[in-house]
Amino acid sequence: MIEQQPTPITVDETAIQELASRLRGALIRPGDTGYEQARAVYNGMIDRRPALIARCVDVADVMAAINFARDHQLTLAVRGGGHNGPGLGTCDDGLVIDLSEMKGIRVDPAARTVRVEGGCTWGDVDHATHAFGLATPSGFMSITGIGGLTLGGGIGYLARTLGLTIDNLLGVDMVLADGSFVTASTDEHADLFWAVRGGGGNFGVVTSFLFQLHPVSTVYGGPMLFPFAQAAEVMKFWRDFILQAPEEINGWFGFVTVPPAPPFPEQFHLQKMCAIVWCYSGAPEKADEVFQPIRASIPPVVDFAGPIPWPVLQSLFDALYPKGLQWYWKTDFFNELSDKAIDLHVKYGAQLPTMHSTMHLYLINGAVHRIGASDTAFSFRDANFAEVIVGVDPDPANNERMIGWARDYWMALHPYSAGGAYVNFMMDEDADRVQAAYRDNYVRLAEIKATYDPGNVFHVNQNIKPTR
Ligand SMILES: Cc1cc2nc3c(=O)[nH]c(=O)nc-3n(C[C@H](O)[C@H](O)[C@H](O)COP(=O)(O)OP(=O)(O)OC[C@H]3O[C@@H](n4cnc5c(N)ncnc54)[C@H](O)[C@@H]3O)c2cc1C
Repeated sequence: MIEQQPTPITVDETAIQELASRLRGALIRPGDTGYEQARAVYNGMIDRRPALIARCVDVADVMAAINFARDHQLTLAVRGGGHNGPGLGTCDDGLVIDLSEMKGIRVDPAARTVRVEGGCTWGDVDHATHAFGLATPSGFMSITGIGGLTLGGGIGYLARTLGLTIDNLLGVDMVLADGSFVTASTDEHADLFWAVRGGGGNFGVVTSFLFQLHPVSTVYGGPMLFPFAQAAEVMKFWRDFILQAPEEINGWFGFVTVPPAPPFPEQFHLQKMCAIVWCYSGAPEKADEVFQPIRASIPPVVDFAGPIPWPVLQSLFDALYPKGLQWYWKTDFFNELSDKAIDLHVKYGAQLPTMHSTMHLYLINGAVHRIGASDTAFSFRDANFAEVIVGVDPDPANNERMIGWARDYWMALHPYSAGGAYVNFMMDEDADRVQAAYRDNYVRLAEIKATYDPGNVFHVNQNIKPTR
C-alpha cells in the first residue's frame, strides 16, 4: 500500500530558495513554465501535483533534495523513467526527485560492464552498449526506466538465458535517507545490495547502476500471430514447448488486438489474435533449425520472426504505447499453466476491452531459477510465468470497462497462481500483497529497511515497513 503521510506544503519561501540555489538542476514549482509537462508520468490515469520537482543532475543534487524533503517532512517521491503503473514516481504536494537528466553511461568493453546513471531508459542503455555488440538483460520495451525496472527485478527477453536484470547487477551507488552516499555490492554493504535486488526504491536513491554485459547483438526474434480460434491449442503448444526449450529461446505469449496499420496485413486489422513474441539469442546459423519445428507444429498466419538487432527488438512496441494512455494493471506469478487455466485465459482473452488492452505471460524460468529464493530480495525463483493483465486506452471514458475486465480476469485466474506477484506489475495494492511478493524474504527486507531508512522517508513505493 502506498502510505500517504501528511505533507505540510507551506514550506518557508527562503528555505525553498536556498534549496534552488544548492541545486545544479532546475527546481520546478506549480505555475512555472514546464510544470505541467514535468509533473506528467507515463500512465495518463495518474494526475498528481507535487509542490517541488527537483531535476537532479548529479549526486550532490540528490543529496540536497533528500535532506530538504526529510528536514521539512515533505512526502518524497523518486522518479526514474516515470513508467510505474500506480505512479510511484510522483506524489501530491511533496517533493519529486526527478532523475531524468542523469543520463551518463560508460561502457567498459574490456570488462564487459556498463555504468548507467539513474535517469536512463533501457533505450539509452541499448544504444550505448549495442555499439560494442553487448547487452544486459532488461525488459520488453525500450522506453521503460532502468531505475524502477531494475530495483523490482527486471523480467525481459533474456531472462531464460541470462537471468533477471538484478542477476546481472554488479553494484549500485546510492544516496540514503540521511543524505549519505554509499556503494553497495557483494563486497560492500552486502545487506543493502541484497535488498535492492528486488526490494524496489525502499532503501534510497540509486544514482548509478553497474551491470554485467554479454555478447548479444543481432538475435532472432519478433512476433508470430495466430487466429484467436486456435488460442487454446497455441497456448498448450507454447506451454509444453517453452518449459522444455533450450535456455537461449524465449518467447512470451499474449492476447492482442492487431493494430490497424502496417506492417500488419489489412485482413487482420483490429482482429483479436494470440501472439508469441520470440527472442532466440543462440547461434544465428542454428535459428532456422530451431524455429522449424515451431512453425511446423503451429503455423502462424503472420510471421515476423527473423534476424533482428537487439535494440530493434527491444523497441518494437514502443510506438504502440506512447506516454499518456490510461493504464490499469493486474498481475500474479504462476508455477504452472493448467488446461483449466488455459480455458479461463481464452474466455477473458476473447473479451479484450480496447485495442491496446492485452494479457501477457512472461517466462521466469531457466537462468532465473538457478539463483536461490533467498539469494536476492526477489523470491519467486520457482515460478515459471509472470502474468500481466493490462487495460490500456487513450480515453478515460473507457476506464471503468477496462478496469472491470482486468479485475474479473485476474480474479478468475488468481486461484491458480503461486500466491504472489511481481511488484513492478502491481497497482496500488495492500500491504499483504507487498508481503506476498517477497514471501520469506519480507522479514529480512523490513530489518534492512530499519537499518537504512528507519523513518520510512522512502515510502512512495511498494512499501516495506521498517521493522526490527
Ligand atoms: C510500457 C511498460 C512496459 C514495461 N515492461 C516491463 C518489462 O518488460 N519488464 C519489467 O520487468 N517491467 C516492465 N514494466 C514495469 C516497470 O518495471 C515498472 O513500471 C517500473 O516501475 C518502471 O521503472 P521507472 O523507473 O520507469 O518508473 P518510476 O515511475 O520512475 O519509478 C518506479 C518506482 O521505482 C523507484 N525508483 C525509480 N528509479 C529509482 C532510483 N534510481 N532509485 C531509487 N528508486 C527508484 C521509484 O521511486 C518508484 O517507487 C513496464 C512498464 C511499462 C509502463
